[in-house]
Amino acid sequence: MQNGPMYKWSIQQVRLPLKFTWKISKGESSEKSLFFVKVEDGARSGMGEVAGITTDKQQFANLIEQFNDFADDHVSDIAEIRNYDLPPHLEFGISSALTHLEAEKKGHSLSRHLGVQPSLPITTSFSLPILPPDQTLDFFYKYNLDQYSVLKIKVSQDNPVQSCLQLAEVYKGPIRIDANEAFQTHNEVLDFIGQLKGIDIQFVEQPMPRQKKKEYLKLKVASPVPVLADESLQNQVLDEEFRELFHGINVKLMKAGSYQRALQQIRQAKAWDMQVMLGCMVESSLGIAGAMAISQDVDYFDLDGFLYFKNEPHNLVTENKGQLTYRQNPLFSVD
Ligand SMILES: [Mg+2]
Repeated sequence: MQNGPMYKWSIQQVRLPLKFTWKISKGESSEKSLFFVKVEDGARSGMGEVAGITTDKQQFANLIEQFNDFADDHVSDIAEIRNYDLPPHLEFGISSALTHLEAEKKGHSLSRHLGVQPSLPITTSFSLPILPPDQTLDFFYKYNLDQYSVLKIKVSQDNPVQSCLQLAEVYKGPIRIDANEAFQTHNEVLDFIGQLKGIDIQFVEQPMPRQKKKEYLKLKVASPVPVLADESLQNQVLDEEFRELFHGINVKLMKAGSYQRALQQIRQAKAWDMQVMLGCMVESSLGIAGAMAISQDVDYFDLDGFLYFKNEPHNLVTENKGQLTYRQNPLFSVD
């Protein structure tokens, strides 16, 4: 038994339908399962979100059951949660619930509690999933994508050039490309980028599998656009290798496992003059509001995941033409 405060924990699953089928190079879905972790101290409570679940379903259910059996009156320390060796998305749900409760106890906003000066409003990109070749334009017009000042497009190895060219025909702002590890060699990536001449490409995100380190080394030297790591960066401390292989990193709370680790990744990247994007999974405005709280020293934002839900459950963030601000809430505010 810990000597820390007595806490009661619970985890609840919700399934939420999406506005459209979300397809990337690794799979597709029309609804998402989210888990909400709640911690209570008798007077106050904190809630954290778990999204982007990649763990096997049964294994994940077992983890939740084990946590529910064990957590009450045991889990009360952020640093200690790391020792449980949980998948980072679950670790984030738990650690962020506790961080939110600790901030509330002090009467501080989350940003103040974490020692961050957020820069709101932030400007997010909106992402196009992988679509059949004849549907890119329909999607663009249906969701009024010309209102956004930057777009991101998901590509796979099938027709990546065609979908980008179709988008660039109707959209003149900068375009981010995310291949989710779809290409195999640096030459394939260079050839792909070479066919997009004249298009304002802001960067390419994780074009090849994370294991292809030699290919990334060659790509970084030769690429005409910045190359950002997404899947390559999980919850590790950023090491020198990232500096050698990438121009920048995509930090996501659900990958980092805690606010503290995400901030560590951002600060190390900036110390090395690397570009930093703050990204997200398909997640509710609870996760998005948390990311906005650590928006200091970030170059790019890709925090549109909450906009994909038919009915977003928390309503903590307001969006207007890609500009995100907080709604009124003491935890998610700038103080
Ligand atoms: Mg990505």
